[in-house]
Amino acid sequence: MLKYKCGVFLLFLFCLCSVQLVQANNNKMPLMGKVIYIDPGHGGSDPGAVYRDIEEHEINLKISLKLEKLLSEQGAIVFLTRYGNYDLSVNHTINRKRSDLSRRSNMINQSLCDLFISIHLNAEESGRWKGAEVYYDPKLEENEEIAKVFQQMFKKYLYSKRSYKKTDDLYLQDRINRPGVLVEVGFLSNASDRYLLTQDSYQNQVAQTLLNGTLTYFSSK
Ligand SMILES: [Zn+2]
Repeated sequence: MLKYKCGVFLLFLFCLCSVQLVQANNNKMPLMGKVIYIDPGHGGSDPGAVYRDIEEHEINLKISLKLEKLLSEQGAIVFLTRYGNYDLSVNHTINRKRSDLSRRSNMINQSLCDLFISIHLNAEESGRWKGAEVYYDPKLEENEEIAKVFQQMFKKYLYSKRSYKKTDDLYLQDRINRPGVLVEVGFLSNASDRYLLTQDSYQNQVAQTLLNGTLTYFSSK
């Protein structure tokens, strides 16, 4: 009988420790179980914005891969729409860009992700404009909340003076039915942004800022 009681007690102790261990891991990994889709804009035949030999698609992917690592370390399940320099269009399509964006949106929708982040760089005729900004589609209520949080992070950590913007005419976002935003993390057309965006240390800073935004958004829910 004593042996039986000891067994039950040890089992109880084991269960208690396991629960505490899971709780400790959840505290250490606040994004445990969250599915996040990162979409590095452009790629393949579409370089995005270009300034001399600096191409947008390349910087988008570098930041995305850094962000993937940071999010995974916090317990998130992370996917990228592309992992190299290629686009996602189907062969022999008439409209390659549409086909590419359509496949990206299908991947994001089918994942049932908790958040998507589409990463881009801005470019304008004038070199005047600088800073990171967020675009959201108002079709989901939480999209504005995500945009607000991410823009606050851009202000705090990347010193952006820009504000988040509503858009309902972006082909990709129009087709996505999961929560998320498109971020333009700087202007390739602005000399100081361009210099920063090509630096590995600044790309890390952008990725860290996007991680902070993600953590803040999920902790506020
Ligand atoms: Zn772009």
